[in-house]
Amino acid sequence: MSGMLYLCATPIGNLGDVSARCIEILGAADLIAAEDTRRTMQLLNHFGISKPLTSYHEHNKREKGEYIIRLLKEGKNVAQVSDAGTPAISDPGEDLVRLCIENGIEVTSVPGPVAGINALILSGLSTARYAFEGFLSVNKRHRSEHLEAVKDDTHTLIFYEAPHKLKNTLSDMERVFGGERRIAIARELTKLHEEVLRMTLFEAVKYYEEHNPRGEYVIVVEGAKKTKEPDAKKWESISIREHVDGYIKEGMTSKEAIKAAAADRGVPRRDVYNEYHKQE
Ligand code: SAM
Repeated sequence: MSGMLYLCATPIGNLGDVSARCIEILGAADLIAAEDTRRTMQLLNHFGISKPLTSYHEHNKREKGEYIIRLLKEGKNVAQVSDAGTPAISDPGEDLVRLCIENGIEVTSVPGPVAGINALILSGLSTARYAFEGFLSVNKRHRSEHLEAVKDDTHTLIFYEAPHKLKNTLSDMERVFGGERRIAIARELTKLHEEVLRMTLFEAVKYYEEHNPRGEYVIVVEGAKKTKEPDAKKWESISIREHVDGYIKEGMTSKEAIKAAAADRGVPRRDVYNEYHKQE
């Protein structure tokens, strides 16, 4: 019978956040696949766990993935950990999970910290609907395309960012989303210098003209405001002529009235213009 792959979440800063089950699973695993074996060794030493470790990261995931699948098929249990937080979230893991599923190997998770979710719940922004956007590309064009693609998204947006790129990212966001958009910048979560700044993008760009970013960051961005849905149904009971004339009676010019009626009905201005003048 095949073994099991355990996706083990580890702390994002504070070692006290490791779960009792995580320690138990790491202590019982036949092999621990770690993104950075040296870093994971520190965690294991801290909890007095001694287990075989192998590296599994972005640059060896193909060969190592096959090796891990072989062991799992032999019935070994493998625990996967990333540098910090939850595996497969902006970290290696996704491919290994897929490989296990393709090979009929069971996968389970040992839940724990995720930086993005902790930043979201501290942000003060809506948690009802959110989208995880991960890291923006280092390529300027791809960054802009990514931001343009989500600028009208009404979900709260969660981005990971490295300190040396924070200032540029905030400027790019201000340019694309506008300076009024509210954001929360969460830094060094669960660590000694934990800080959450809540401000507009305009204020954030100004703030970082005078402060140097240090540590690990999550940027949480308020979603775009919902554009009011045109209430087309409401206007179905009156003709376009009555609709436009109603506005003209209120003092609008015919051009203004046609524009307003088109907006009410959610149709192009030209259609209202043609219909209105056709009936004259
Ligand atoms: N798998 C991790 C998780 O579950 O959150 C994310 C790994 S990703 C490679 C690392 C990024 O997560 C950092 O660049 C930063 O954006 C964010 N991050 C990790 N730890 C953090 C912390 N303590 N405070 C703020 N952001 C953190």
